[in-house]
Amino acid sequence: MNEPLHLLDLKRQYAMHSERFEQAMREVCANAQFIMGPALDSFEKNFAGYVGTGHAIGVASGTDALRLACEALHLGPGDEVLYPANTFIATALAVRQVGATPIPVDVGEDHLMDLDDLRAKANSRTKAIIPVHLYGQALDMGALMDIADELGLAVIEDACQAHGAKWNGTRCGGFGHLGCFSFYPGKNLGAFGDGGMVTTNDDALARAILNARNYGQSAKYVHDSLGGNSRLDALQAAVLDIKLAMLDDWNAARFEAALEYTRLLEGSSVEVPLFDQENPHRHVFHLYVVLCDDREGLMQHMAKRGIHCGIHYPVPVHLQKAMADLGHHAGACPKAEALAPRLLSLPIFPEIRKDEIERVAAAIREFNGDAPLPA
Ligand SMILES: *Cc1c(COP(=O)(O)O)cnc(C)c1O
Repeated sequence: MNEPLHLLDLKRQYAMHSERFEQAMREVCANAQFIMGPALDSFEKNFAGYVGTGHAIGVASGTDALRLACEALHLGPGDEVLYPANTFIATALAVRQVGATPIPVDVGEDHLMDLDDLRAKANSRTKAIIPVHLYGQALDMGALMDIADELGLAVIEDACQAHGAKWNGTRCGGFGHLGCFSFYPGKNLGAFGDGGMVTTNDDALARAILNARNYGQSAKYVHDSLGGNSRLDALQAAVLDIKLAMLDDWNAARFEAALEYTRLLEGSSVEVPLFDQENPHRHVFHLYVVLCDDREGLMQHMAKRGIHCGIHYPVPVHLQKAMADLGHHAGACPKAEALAPRLLSLPIFPEIRKDEIERVAAAIREFNGDAPLPA
């Protein structure tokens, strides 16, 4: 049998750059500045410069970034927050953690928040929108910010899958009042553990997050607010700083892989994702997601050939048991609900080889009895 091909293979990246990663970690250990300190300062400064915001604040995870953003905006009980029904559950969990109510918005053919349904779901209780740049694809932030301004709503971008993606020249995380990132190892920019970041141009919001992540401390042993402990540690920051310099190249390699999949799957029985093939920045392909009909059968066929796919996500967030108390039933977001059983994520990561992409595409075509691979 062929060597297994996983949805994501992190070992290759480590093997290629281990010297540099280990050198950066050795420096942190030798200086013994594990919490806050120069490695974190450097990464925060470089990440703010990369996204193009005045501030970037390292935190413990993407989920915490979202929760701290909700807290900084004083969202709480009675407030409604609009989010897309197809996302990772953390988007809505953060809203629940501050006691506010996440309201699911349906998605369009591009899997992103549908702006007509967004308008339809907004009411006098609505306080904020959390757009998600799902799969690495930048939402039309011009149109979204126009709606938010018109309705007087705060915007928290969930850019946890979209490090480096751009809409109209500006990177995701640079549009909203706050931008949230995850450095979970499998993300386009991933740490060797958990980590996250909040970006903002607003000095007061930045101050609130800086305090909240560090025991509500405005200066040593001066506690003006009730904070917690949610920091990005120096070992992670040092590794992420090295990786940040490689992110654009890695994203370009993902885009090339996506173009190749799209070419090889044309005319097959799966539907390939819609994206602007001329613009290598709008979509950074955290995931390459196709639509298929017999997903169970196709996944089994692929697994027999050593190819492991993923599903993002099998159940829309509002239909998860954890959200049942909110009373959002099937039918609330019909398009997202119809897409969920058809979604299939194919292996994609910067180091994936052309022959591996061919192997995946050939296996899909074989299962469906499609014509063989195009030349
Ligand atoms: C990964 C992810 C999160 C959560 O980030 P963690 O670092 O795992 O807490 C939130 N939203 C989306 C869309 C994600 O993909």
